[in-house]
Amino acid sequence: MSLVAVEENIALLVDSLNFRQKVDRSLALLETAWREHGDGLVVANSLGKDSVAVWHLAKRISPRIRGFIVTTRFKPADTVRFMHEEVARYPELRVFRNDAAIPDRLHETDPDRCCDLLKVEPTRRAILEMNVTCWVTGLRCTEGRTRVDFREVENRDAGLVKLNPVLLWHEREIWQYLALHQVPVNPLYADGYRSLGCAPCTRITTDANERAGRWIGTSKCGGECGIHTRPLKFTDGAGI
Ligand code: SF4
Repeated sequence: MSLVAVEENIALLVDSLNFRQKVDRSLALLETAWREHGDGLVVANSLGKDSVAVWHLAKRISPRIRGFIVTTRFKPADTVRFMHEEVARYPELRVFRNDAAIPDRLHETDPDRCCDLLKVEPTRRAILEMNVTCWVTGLRCTEGRTRVDFREVENRDAGLVKLNPVLLWHEREIWQYLALHQVPVNPLYADGYRSLGCAPCTRITTDANERAGRWIGTSKCGGECGIHTRPLKFTDGAGI
C-alpha cells in the first residue's frame, strides 16, 4: 500500500470493509511507513483504546518502533498509573509534559489556550526531539463531528507525514481487536468512559457521540485539543 494520499471515499470504506480487511489495511499502511521512514516513524500514544490498538499494530511491524506520550498535570490518577505501567512494559515510550505555570482554572476560562499549552506544545517538542518524520495516531473518523474529514495519510505540516492507520475502524472494531489480542487498557473504561482526556474536561455520558463527554459546558464540547488541527512542525512556538 502506498503512502501517497489517494482520493478514496472514506465513509464508504468504513462500512464496506470488514474487520479483517481493516486490520490488514492498517498493518500495510504501518509497514509501508516503517519502510519509508524507519526510526523517523513514531507513534503518539494518548493511553486511550485507539492508541493502544495502534501501538499493538505497530509493534507487530517492528518491536523497534518508538512512541511518545503527552501527559498533563490534570490527567486522572488511573491514567497516570496506566501510563507508568505502559512505560515499564515499553521503555521506548517517551513521556512529554509542560510544567510551566498557567493561570488558575484556564481549562474553564480558555480551554483552547489550556490545550495549546499543555498538549500541543509538548507534542511539538516530542516531534522535534525525537526527529519524527512520520507520526502515527489513533484517530478514527467515526468518533465524532470533528473527525469526519481526516485522511489515512496527511501532509499538513511540511516535512511531517501524519498516518492515521485506524481511521476507518468503528469503536466496536477497536474493542474487538483489543479483546482478541488481550491488550491491557486504561481502567477508566470500566467506569463507563468512552473517550479519555484530562479529569476536569472529561465526563461519562450516554450520548451516542463517542466524544460527547469531552469539554462539556464549553464551546469546545465534543471537540479537539488541537494536536490534530494545529501545525506541529517548523514553528518557533509563537503560535502558542
Ligand atoms: S483537556 Fe482540559 S485540562 Fe487538559 S489541557 Fe485541555 S483544557 Fe486543559
